Amino acid sequence: MVLGNYKTALSARSTDADILKCSQDGGVVTQLFAYALEEGIIDGAIVAGPGDEPFKPEPVVAMSKEELLAARGTRYTISPNMKLIKEATRSYGLDKVGIVGTPCQMQALRKAQLYPMGMRSVPDKIALAIGIFCMENFPYQGLETIVEDHCNVKMESAVKMDIGKGKFTVYTERGAVSQIPLKETHKYEQPGCHVCLDYVANLSDISTGSVGSPDGWSTVFVRTKKGDDIWSKAITAGCFETKDIASVKPGLDLVTKLATGKIDKNKKTLEERATFGVGKGLRNPYI
Ligand SMILES: Cc1cc2nc3c(=O)[nH]c(=O)nc-3n(C[C@H](O)[C@H](O)[C@H](O)COP(=O)(O)OP(=O)(O)OC[C@H]3O[C@@H](n4cnc5c(N)ncnc54)[C@H](O)[C@@H]3O)c2cc1C
Ligand code: SF4
Repeated sequence: MVLGNYKTALSARSTDADILKCSQDGGVVTQLFAYALEEGIIDGAIVAGPGDEPFKPEPVVAMSKEELLAARGTRYTISPNMKLIKEATRSYGLDKVGIVGTPCQMQALRKAQLYPMGMRSVPDKIALAIGIFCMENFPYQGLETIVEDHCNVKMESAVKMDIGKGKFTVYTERGAVSQIPLKETHKYEQPGCHVCLDYVANLSDISTGSVGSPDGWSTVFVRTKKGDDIWSKAITAGCFETKDIASVKPGLDLVTKLATGKIDKNKKTLEERATFGVGKGLRNPYI
């Protein structure tokens, strides 16, 4: 169950060259929202928009393809997308909301739907929740230190960052590539990530990440009935090229290995917390 419940797993990438150009992997998130917006499945999507500082995202309600395109790509720091969930339904008046988020944000979303205290307008208005795989995240200052001090790249010169194959990689506007081993970045991770037991956004309608698929492609889990309906329509509309996940390398074996590794490691941290300190035990969020 480390990969959660899903109806279909596959490898996919957008067929829209504009979307693919600056998206992080196969442009699955941006393509799905763009299609859902065009078809009236959603009226807007909460995404990580560009903020005032480089790679410091600011959640926005995107209501056009242009706004979705401006929010493409991964920012390895916190984008509190859930903070707009009430705004989206009230100030923006959306009846069909799309939202992208990390696994913990998908958990917060489902909790808000199940226990809508102060969120009365939210539960029935979530039309598409897209989760992104997540091993860890960094506070902005930590990310800045990794990029500027370890990778030797000015934040404003960076055009893309990527974590994969044991490396943190920064690409610059002038075509340079700077890479460091992930072991150098661990100390900058948010401590909360060390008790997180979800790698592949089990509670989303559709979740996606790079791991498992070839470069430029995304691994996709279609999880819920709602996700399945939208995914099938998007495929029929020609939004995606797809490959059988069993035919690609490294495939689901690597996703399973990384998900298991994260869960096992973080369960140990939870156990350590339960017996830590004088009064014995920091709060365990799972009990
Ligand atoms: C902190 C973090 C850690 C990740 N770790 C992994 C990993 O270990 N393995 C893996 O396979 N994939 C990981 N991913 C996911 C991966 O980097 C891509 O986001 C995912 O594959 C989607 O790519 P895409 O081309 O479909 O998305 P795009 O079409 O480029 O769109 C990306 C969407 O994600 C939103 N977004 C960007 N940054 C954030 C953020 N910080 N919080 C919330 N939303 C955001 C953007 O606004 C945009 O809507 C991670 C992502 C994040 C944010
Ligand atoms: S590792 Fe878990 S807690 Fe940390 S950002 Fe990712 S999903 Fe959230």
